[in-house]
Amino acid sequence: MSHDLGAILDLDACVEHLRGLIRIPSVNPPDGGPDVAAGRDPTGGETAAARYCADELGDAGIAAEVIELTPGRGSCVARLRATGPDTQPPLILLSHLDVVPVDAEAWSRDPFGGDLVDGVVWGRGAVDMKDMVAMELGVMLALQRSGAELRRDVIFAAVADEEAGGEHGARGLVEQRPELFGDDSGRTAAAAINEVGGYSMTLGDRRFYTIQVAEKGIAWTRLRTTGTPGHGSMPHADNAAVKLAAAVTALAADQARRPARVIPVVAGFLEAIGLGEVAPLAESDPARAADLLTSVVTDPVTRRSIDAMLRDTATPTVLRAGKKVNVLPGTGEAEVDVRTLPGTDQAAFLGHLRAVVGGGVTVESVVSLPPVEWPADAEIVGLMHDALRAADPEATAVPMMITPGTDAKALAQLGIPCYGFAPLRLEPDVPFLSLFHGHDERVPVSALAFGLPVLAQVVARYAIRA
Ligand SMILES: [Zn+2]
Repeated sequence: MSHDLGAILDLDACVEHLRGLIRIPSVNPPDGGPDVAAGRDPTGGETAAARYCADELGDAGIAAEVIELTPGRGSCVARLRATGPDTQPPLILLSHLDVVPVDAEAWSRDPFGGDLVDGVVWGRGAVDMKDMVAMELGVMLALQRSGAELRRDVIFAAVADEEAGGEHGARGLVEQRPELFGDDSGRTAAAAINEVGGYSMTLGDRRFYTIQVAEKGIAWTRLRTTGTPGHGSMPHADNAAVKLAAAVTALAADQARRPARVIPVVAGFLEAIGLGEVAPLAESDPARAADLLTSVVTDPVTRRSIDAMLRDTATPTVLRAGKKVNVLPGTGEAEVDVRTLPGTDQAAFLGHLRAVVGGGVTVESVVSLPPVEWPADAEIVGLMHDALRAADPEATAVPMMITPGTDAKALAQLGIPCYGFAPLRLEPDVPFLSLFHGHDERVPVSALAFGLPVLAQVVARYAIRA
């Protein structure tokens, strides 16, 4: 059986699936966001998106289940079964159906319109990550149409609630329905292909593709201060708002001088993109490392992303203190987005932050998810390299770590290696990382035209019986 699905891939259908999914405002949280104000009923948005996938799969003869761990919060799971002897553990095509809310006023187009203009598909989810839902759906449909015999099950899992921790999606399914991520012999999947990595990055005149093999850990943290309430006209030093501001300022100052720690996957990434000098400098001479980064990496978001790969980060994001202008607040609260490198002890890092903010401020852990890191020399990663090399011989594919978290952390609980590989070939001027959760999220059809066959080839070579 041929491993080449190229001839049966349907790019037009993939684009229409993406547009169809964008038109379903599967906003998370489902009770928030301006889509409510716009008169759209977002209730069941994820379920509607899950049904959309299930219908497309069902029409092609692939049985698909819509699972609602919570009403309205649907996920779609479907499976193509292996046949014959010596089957291997499954491959999962993982994605999420939910999207973050929009600030519709700031968009140039309807964020839920799915407009296709001048070869670009616009809308919330265009890159995070309905593009990948559509590509993985396209690969499932092509595999089915090909009639190929599989040596491992291929599982399509498009889940709810990635953007808010996955309780109603991946995390919940891993806990309540772990069998979905394995096969009839009780073996858990050998690998999953998931979001973020896979996109191209142009530095100077060289193009790179990212293959994401690691993610930083999450350690969301809360600071609390207390003070003595009283009338705002008679100030005193025990003001919870002022103490909170001081704590947050201390965290920011500590962040600015935190030394780098270059882990092997990041050192390899920097080396591969021609920034090998940055790794040792980041640890010994941060100012020179920063200058070097600035001279080579022109996109500021890419630069920030690289900088965040080099160190643990603690970023205050939410502050609450006081209710009324003339009342001294008795309590203050800040939320801090802490992200840790593989190898960082999260409890010890929180201890460090405690020392930074000083006495009188409580520092407590709210969410703690360890980093994930998977072998960069796995068979499926080799296939990703091969497929990219064949599709774009001049470019280089490089394993990397992302700084945000994904549902990979949920699958890690089952020991399933999860690789971020949503292949997209982008023009040098596309501010790709800025489009995630940003205004005017959009993806060129040409990027999908590149990515769909690359993804299909990886899946085919990994799953179709030789
Ligand atoms: Zn995402």
